[in-house]
Amino acid sequence: PDVVNRIAAGEIIVAPVHALKELMENAVDAGSTSVEVLVKEGGLKLLQITDNGCGIRKEDLAILCERHTTSKITSFEDLTSISTYGFRGEALASISHIAHLSVTTKTADSDVAWRAHFLDGKLVPAKPGQSPAPKATAGRNGTQICVEDLFFNVPTRRRAFRYPSDEYNKIIDMVGRYAVHCEGVAFSCKKHGDPGTGLSIQASAKTVDRIRQIHGANVTNELLEFSTSEDRWGFQADGFATNANYHVKKTTLLLFINHRCVESTHIKKAIEQVYAAVLPKNGRPFVYLNLNIDPARVDVNVHPTKREVHFLNEDEIIQSICEHIRSKLAEVDT
Ligand code: ADP
Ligand code: MG
Repeated sequence: PDVVNRIAAGEIIVAPVHALKELMENAVDAGSTSVEVLVKEGGLKLLQITDNGCGIRKEDLAILCERHTTSKITSFEDLTSISTYGFRGEALASISHIAHLSVTTKTADSDVAWRAHFLDGKLVPAKPGQSPAPKATAGRNGTQICVEDLFFNVPTRRRAFRYPSDEYNKIIDMVGRYAVHCEGVAFSCKKHGDPGTGLSIQASAKTVDRIRQIHGANVTNELLEFSTSEDRWGFQADGFATNANYHVKKTTLLLFINHRCVESTHIKKAIEQVYAAVLPKNGRPFVYLNLNIDPARVDVNVHPTKREVHFLNEDEIIQSICEHIRSKLAEVDT
């Protein structure tokens, strides 16, 4: 059964960035105003996420890494009206099957922090011979999760990562996406032993400042802000997009649906079409697009890594987003 679980986990967590994304979403879901990421060897040696959110109660630790442990569904109805990022209660369970996972966490009403280690869904001792029970320790409010030796028990997968720096680049890209999206939350991402590099965004930075710090002044100087009013199905879109004075070789699309970072080939293609009319040949835009859609109308389970999404009335909705951006671009032209 551990092998089956390991294979299932490997379909959800294909690369270090997928584990990182799940852990970062958990940190944001916990109401954190600070999320710090530390990475060793592209996340294969260590992924450490430290937040200052609500923490996890000691009595919830034992089952934390069991499948379907989630604090995010309280009734059957909630299954169709999910507004927090995660809902399947599978991320931590999956990670515990393919890495050494440890958690240090403190809720505001607890005097001490608790540390626990997990493997294959269960509490395990920190060292052989010790008790697997969580141990009291000093710590601040919030949660620190350490994922060590990712894929240590999946040697074929592990060997596939020949260039840790590629994995690090994917991680920093993902942290950057959430940093742009989560106004009010401080983010940092550091490579172990190289504290001068990476990314650091203060909690007070506004969205445009976040884009400037991560994507540069050239993009930021040519940004249009847009926002649609809610349509009759509760659909709403807003964000920032570059104007006709700016272009790059490859489209940068930061796409969030209901506050989850996702990918949509349809949306990307449609936006490129809009810009094809105003940019030189081979010129591409930068777009940060934030969509709010009735969760019952979104299908996020199309692909195991949950990134390529589909939703009801997709063509219509994409049309209306494009129409909106097109008219914004035209406003600047005249
Ligand atoms: P899900 O996010 O889908 O609920 P996860 O496996 O990602 O499932 O997490 C399981 C549960 O663990 C969450 O529902 C939450 O209660 C708790 N949890 C995980 N990470 C954190 C965190 N950083 N801070 C507070 N609680 C957390
Ligand atoms: Mg989660």
